[in-house]
Amino acid sequence: MDEVEIAPQPVQRFADVIGDEPVARLLDTMATARDQLGAGTVWHVNSTAEGGGVAEMLHSILGYPAACDIRVRWLVIDGNEEFFEVTKRLHHLLHGSDGDGDGLDERDRQTYESALASDGAQLRRLVRPGDAVILHDPQTLGLAPLLAASGAHVIWSCHIGADSPNQRTRAGWRFLEPYAAHTSNQVFSRRQYGWDVLDPAQVVVIPPCIDAFSAKNQVLDDDTVAAVLAAAGIVATRAPASATFTRQDGATGRVTARADMIEDTPVPATAKIVTQISRWDPLKDHVGVLTAFCGAELDGDAHLVLAGPSPDSVTDDPEGQQTLDELRAAWSALPPEQRRQVHLACLPMDDLEENAAIVNALQRRTDVIVQKSLAEGFGLTVAEGMWKGRPTVGSRVGGIQDQIESGVSGVLVEPTDLAGFTATVRNLLDDPETAAELGRAAQDRVCAEYLAPRHIDRYFQLITALY
Ligand code: UDP
Repeated sequence: MDEVEIAPQPVQRFADVIGDEPVARLLDTMATARDQLGAGTVWHVNSTAEGGGVAEMLHSILGYPAACDIRVRWLVIDGNEEFFEVTKRLHHLLHGSDGDGDGLDERDRQTYESALASDGAQLRRLVRPGDAVILHDPQTLGLAPLLAASGAHVIWSCHIGADSPNQRTRAGWRFLEPYAAHTSNQVFSRRQYGWDVLDPAQVVVIPPCIDAFSAKNQVLDDDTVAAVLAAAGIVATRAPASATFTRQDGATGRVTARADMIEDTPVPATAKIVTQISRWDPLKDHVGVLTAFCGAELDGDAHLVLAGPSPDSVTDDPEGQQTLDELRAAWSALPPEQRRQVHLACLPMDDLEENAAIVNALQRRTDVIVQKSLAEGFGLTVAEGMWKGRPTVGSRVGGIQDQIESGVSGVLVEPTDLAGFTATVRNLLDDPETAAELGRAAQDRVCAEYLAPRHIDRYFQLITALY
């Protein structure tokens, strides 16, 4: 098992973002928690230190309680190949899909439990009675019985689920239920993901949060946005500033890598831009976005940018290349006038913070953000766009419908309603005032619900209630 170092971060840095009062409230919550915990520690246990939403979120939130003198530690389990095969299958089942189709049996349970045994033994030596342990996702839940027996308060946090559980979802629950029974609370990122076989009094909903200070979401002025997009070769602007951003460690980063653009001519500097940023995954329905955009018959000023990671970078994702090939074929088949208005951007991935800065600039430069997913977990790109004050049009699926209050902080459209997407995008481009109003409300909503202070507050309210 490895430990990830946590660098303390003062909560006060949020004062400019959310105001003094919410900061003071969070400091109060953490002071109460610190008093109750006494010498106790809050442990987070997950399965990876890098990559994936949970690791990214832990990196961005744990420094705040640490700066408030709360003992927080983050451990990463070892696992092994067979173990991760089992947990991958569990992941698919909880989503309601078959995955490799094998289901799970008693041997899988043995594989799961025996791989966790050595992590459990190490944890047993570290965790003291009265500590709080937050286990993340199915990979770590099997540690709950041992930790509960050693006198710790154990919370399970599950970031995945299905909108409507089916037989496969229930098979996943059956596998995990004996371990969940040893936790005091089960946290889900959406109400719909909570299992109906659990005690409703123990089920808590805590949505994820985005990092306001990361390269992905930090404030960039308009000149820097233009410079980043010019440096990345996405929007043809004469760069008035340098294409810089602030890295997590405080160093200044510079965007130099260029996106691979599939386009006839570059996006003009004065264009109105509609953007969807996603992995090249069929569930993100890029071709649907392209069709809806072209159906709007917008004037030549409007351009669609479909951006995703350079497919070379994701070697274990052959589906990504195939999805991009299909999209490219749909783009090629467009009449020249429409093709000129549609741009496919494969973003450089060698330096993830540079990639994030490009995503940030593109979202900030965008007039209308679209997320036309056919299915979605939470939908981080939606929160990211809303945080930047952008009017956002999302499908009424998964966590997108938790984030956007349709007509107030964005617009929700049924995922297969192409005509609805077309009309909504056209209306927003034609009515900048309404678009700006939706964008302002979107930003307020993210400030209130989906930034670290709210997330941390929700967790510490929960932890405090255990003592
Ligand atoms: N993303 C990125 N670079 C890209 C494409 C996507 O950093 O080229 C990020 C995007 O900004 C978001 C995440 O990948 O933070 C995607 O998360 P989301 O919840 O929207 O969808 P998922 O990929 O988990 O299905």
